[in-house]
Amino acid sequence: MVDDIATDADWNALYIDGEWTESESGESIAVEDPSTRETVAHVPRGTEADVDAAYEAAAEAQQSWAEAPPARRQEVVEQFLQALNEYEDEIIDLLAHEVGGSRIMGETSIQIASDHASEAATLPRRMRGEHVASNIPGKENIVQKNPKGVVTVISPWNFPLNLSMRAVAPAVAAGNAVVLKPSTNSPITGGLLFAKLFEETDLPEGVVNVVTGRGSEIGDRVAGHPESDVVAFTGSTEVGKRVSGIAGENLAVPAMELGGNNAHVVTEGADVDRAVDAAVFGSFVHQGQVCISINRHIVHESVYDEYVEKLTERAAELPVGSAHEDDTVVGPIIDESQRDEMLGYVEETVAAGATLETGGSTADLDGVDDSLVVQPTVLSGVTNDMAAACNEHFGPIAPVIPFSDVDEAVELANATEYGLSGSVHAGDLATGKEIALRMETGNVHVNDQPINDEAHVPFSGIGASGVGTYNSDAFLDEITEDKWISLQHEPRDYPL
Ligand code: NAP
Repeated sequence: MVDDIATDADWNALYIDGEWTESESGESIAVEDPSTRETVAHVPRGTEADVDAAYEAAAEAQQSWAEAPPARRQEVVEQFLQALNEYEDEIIDLLAHEVGGSRIMGETSIQIASDHASEAATLPRRMRGEHVASNIPGKENIVQKNPKGVVTVISPWNFPLNLSMRAVAPAVAAGNAVVLKPSTNSPITGGLLFAKLFEETDLPEGVVNVVTGRGSEIGDRVAGHPESDVVAFTGSTEVGKRVSGIAGENLAVPAMELGGNNAHVVTEGADVDRAVDAAVFGSFVHQGQVCISINRHIVHESVYDEYVEKLTERAAELPVGSAHEDDTVVGPIIDESQRDEMLGYVEETVAAGATLETGGSTADLDGVDDSLVVQPTVLSGVTNDMAAACNEHFGPIAPVIPFSDVDEAVELANATEYGLSGSVHAGDLATGKEIALRMETGNVHVNDQPINDEAHVPFSGIGASGVGTYNSDAFLDEITEDKWISLQHEPRDYPL
């Protein structure tokens, strides 16, 4: 491992079959720091030939890795976790440089990624088959749990470390090989960093391979490679639909975690201060660029004004700026197109009749020409069909929608194609749970906000938010297959 991972490492190589190799293209892609807008690294512009080489290495390495004893696979994942923790400060720095992650985002990423690696380390010893009684006299049924083979991991840029980790670590632990294709906005913390950390372990060459490059150029080959047995994709619904179609044609299992439009429901009896406290975190942490961020605040008319006033006050006070300042809470948006899209949603929402309570524009940063920092924004008088509410805005934007009874709140919350996460504040837990049960999402959190991920608890989206379940035993099922072997102990009585 390099001494100073954030500044000295040369990231301009693919990791295939345990070797750092040049891309066949000979070309690279610049990585821009969203705070400073300066280029901080270059990574290879991978090609389909590079993708093929990565799968060839993975397929070759997988069989003997699957035969490694559970204790050895556990040890490798533990070594990986140790390396992750050893380089924690450098990785937090890298996240700031590459995706504009504040200190809070960096620390949260490390904590969740460590949780996923720790959980994965338990899988090798917990993978077990079963004996199933047979209806046929003298037959013994054995069901073995085997790794699927090669797991493709395609990850997004928003929380790259832990979103790659939640698929890579369990896949390796269960005896699979991996081809990892990170986002072009986070090729290091979502991809090449994994190769550096695995180099610190006794993982055999070829089990983990990392190919950087543009999804528009190599994505289809990655998603549909004949050697791929599972495609673990996290990203937008639009790309996810394409990827799952290609994976399905190839008869690979699609495990898809996609977009969201998460509601934070606050009813008449709610403790408004507590609901606002949760809302500030759920809307503004990592600039709202979390698939499970609050996208809409759905608030009862009796507490609406108080809620808007308190949320506005808190939003306006949040420290905004460069991700490299330790006290920054709201840092830069990942790139210009995302920034412009979300500011467009705000403009459209105001033009449609909503009130801009605070924010709605960029914040100047010293020495930066075209700042990507968007001021924390609160919009009141919003309806569900306005642009900031009906789209996944993925920004530090809080549209607040009023309602008059609980049925209406549930209807508003559910009036979206997505079904990822949500939260409810209803005063008492029983009422909160009743509403949670009626919310059509994979996850709902009562007296909290929607951003939660615990590696031992199943995590999934429904509707346009995904197919398949991540974390622990649920994800183990996605990356393993059951093999039925029967032993006929005595001659069988056939009808012919
Ligand atoms: P994205 O544009 O869908 O990209 C996701 C990944 O797919 C990237 O690595 C991208 O590579 C790759 N890709 C693009 N085109 C491809 C193709 N034709 N074939 C295969 N791969 C292709 O998503 P994003 O902007 O990175 O991430 C934000 C989205 O992810 C949001 O919608 C968010 O809600 C969602 N998300 C969901 C979860 C969840 O758990 N449900 C978690 C986090 C994020 P390039 O970058 O090179 O194009």
